[in-house]
Amino acid sequence: MNYIELKNHLSLDEYVYITGHVHPDGDCVGSALALYHLLKKDGYNVRVILEEKPNGYEFLNGYEEIYTLSDYTKYQGQIMSSSYQLIIVDSGDLSRIEPFMDLFSQARLTINIDHHSSNDHFADIQQVDVQASSTCEVIGMMLGLHKHEHIDDVHIATALYTGIIYDTGLFKHDCTRKETHYIAAKLVDVGVDQTFLINKLYFTKTEKSLKALQIALSNMKVFGKGHIVMAYISYEDMEKHNLQKSDTEAIVNQLVEVDTAYISCFILGIDHEKYKISLRSKSLIDVCEIAQKYKGGGHIKAAGCSVDGKLTEVIKSFESELVNAYERNS
Ligand code: 5GP
Ligand code: MN
Repeated sequence: MNYIELKNHLSLDEYVYITGHVHPDGDCVGSALALYHLLKKDGYNVRVILEEKPNGYEFLNGYEEIYTLSDYTKYQGQIMSSSYQLIIVDSGDLSRIEPFMDLFSQARLTINIDHHSSNDHFADIQQVDVQASSTCEVIGMMLGLHKHEHIDDVHIATALYTGIIYDTGLFKHDCTRKETHYIAAKLVDVGVDQTFLINKLYFTKTEKSLKALQIALSNMKVFGKGHIVMAYISYEDMEKHNLQKSDTEAIVNQLVEVDTAYISCFILGIDHEKYKISLRSKSLIDVCEIAQKYKGGGHIKAAGCSVDGKLTEVIKSFESELVNAYERNS
């Protein structure tokens, strides 16, 4: 489906809501805002609704207009009082939009635009490209930017570039392919400020993010002959130091940078006895398979899930899963 075909599915007479996964990241916010600007310019009534507005993306045009979960709760009656269409970005299954299940189930039409290998085709219409580096790249392809097409809106280009550099780790991960670069080049041509975006996403650290890293490293454990690196931050430490999830986002990637590491695992306390697990691989080990055992998902080399339980039990469970995965692959 290209962008024209997407528009052909959408009625101009109904609102188009755009949502994405819980704990929205750079690709989620970037793809939602790129679609927001595209559809708005084409005359649609559009609103982005995300669980929260993640810190650090205030520079994106349209960020201010995003409805958070609390705005959604406040206006839910109004939103649902008439027929509407819903686009879900960067989400491979319905558990990823759990706070918005009502919004999903009451939509006249649902469209999913995504790139996760674990995508289970939950919407009425899907545009899922598991080869694409990011949902922003999927949108770039829908616009034909990898071929002869151009866009002229720097806000759309900035949103798409943000998602691409976020999900490719600055064109480093092996999800980066030639189309990623073709599209990025077209976006640069529109006037995207690459230096600003790269510095903003990758070379700007807050005091809190360093504090989070310090705590995680003090809880780091290397095992499986040096090939598995694991760290955690307890919910109590998150509370004590007033840390947000966004302060911890880079940690799992830093753990896998250990020279001997094949896989890394970062366990984050997000509530009492509630943990968010992030997994990374730089080997043949498929971490999505591990995440799926805990009802999570993602990609072969970057995946995640949420689990309930006591911290010591969660650590133990993942230690043995990771060792098993490592032994199966060696
Ligand atoms: P991260 O570890 O950075 O949160 O996520 C890595 C990848 O796994 C992302 O592509 C993300 O969408 C996916 N992912 C993370 N957590 C979950 C989860 O709980 N369920 C599913 N299905 N995918 C997840
Ligand atoms: Mn993504």
